[in-house]
Amino acid sequence: MSDLELKPDEALCEPSGKPGPRAEFFPSREVPLGGVRGVTVFRSLPQRDLPTVGAWCFLDNFGSGSAAKPEGHDIDPHPHIGLQTVTWPLDGRIRHRDSVGSDVEILPGQLNIMTSGRGIAHSEYRVPGRESGAGLQLWIALPGDKAAVAPHFEQHRDLPEFELPGLHGIVLIGSLGDATSPAMAYTPIVGADLRLDADTTAALPLNPDFEHALLVIEGALDADGTKVEPGSLFYLGSGRNQLPLSSIHGAHVLLIGGEPYREELVMWWNFVARSHEEIEAARNDWENLDLGRFPDIAGHTPDQRIPAPPLPPLHLKPRKRRCGVPHD
Ligand code: MN
Repeated sequence: MSDLELKPDEALCEPSGKPGPRAEFFPSREVPLGGVRGVTVFRSLPQRDLPTVGAWCFLDNFGSGSAAKPEGHDIDPHPHIGLQTVTWPLDGRIRHRDSVGSDVEILPGQLNIMTSGRGIAHSEYRVPGRESGAGLQLWIALPGDKAAVAPHFEQHRDLPEFELPGLHGIVLIGSLGDATSPAMAYTPIVGADLRLDADTTAALPLNPDFEHALLVIEGALDADGTKVEPGSLFYLGSGRNQLPLSSIHGAHVLLIGGEPYREELVMWWNFVARSHEEIEAARNDWENLDLGRFPDIAGHTPDQRIPAPPLPPLHLKPRKRRCGVPHD
């Protein structure tokens, strides 16, 4: 779920900038989720100057740390196209229902991954309890030749673990070291949840063909000589075989990465596409209750659907990395 505010692009350049290691902070921003019961989230992707990290094109942190909101994460039925949604609860349980017939709950340490293909609708509600309902929501852009695959949903309750002394990783998608997630990936990509014990020093193996970024969820760590804390996405660039990590008091961190995404993307509301026309068609199909593309979700009534906002009065353009981003 999102409410992407699209501004006319300024000077554009190569989507993934120059290759090579980088060490740049991209501050997360607090964003209200339009019309969704007053929920605000901290959004780390997309950034104006960093629309993607690998094929990761969206990263929200809801209800954790300084984003703590007692109402947690309750999102009524809404559509997606052109992407995979990745839901990673940090505290509490989330009930997921969708238009391919899924109705499941997940707990922290378990992964929901939903491939929208050309169209899917879903809802995500916090299961009432004492927990905060904190979690992460990410999107992965599908490549153009897979953007129209049949929609499907996967739940993975037993993900592979990656261990080093003092470092405990869970691999959400892709591979870390010799641990490989069963989650379906359409581009070379990695996502992992990492916990560092206090007084840990470790060398995290990385694929040098990938670009990577870290989001600290809790605690603080030192990554290749830079102190990283919650509140910013720390972009590492590419070309790294390994990343020296250390933490004095311990840290909980998300690692994302992948082959730099070379295709142009148009992102608007909950849609990832390649053109204004594709977005407009999906918006019309949602607003016109096209059940061929966005079937009803069992247990929900059509009046629970979140209406699409009006399209902005401009031709939606691809998001690209702006020139002028400093390179090492
Ligand atoms: Mn969604």
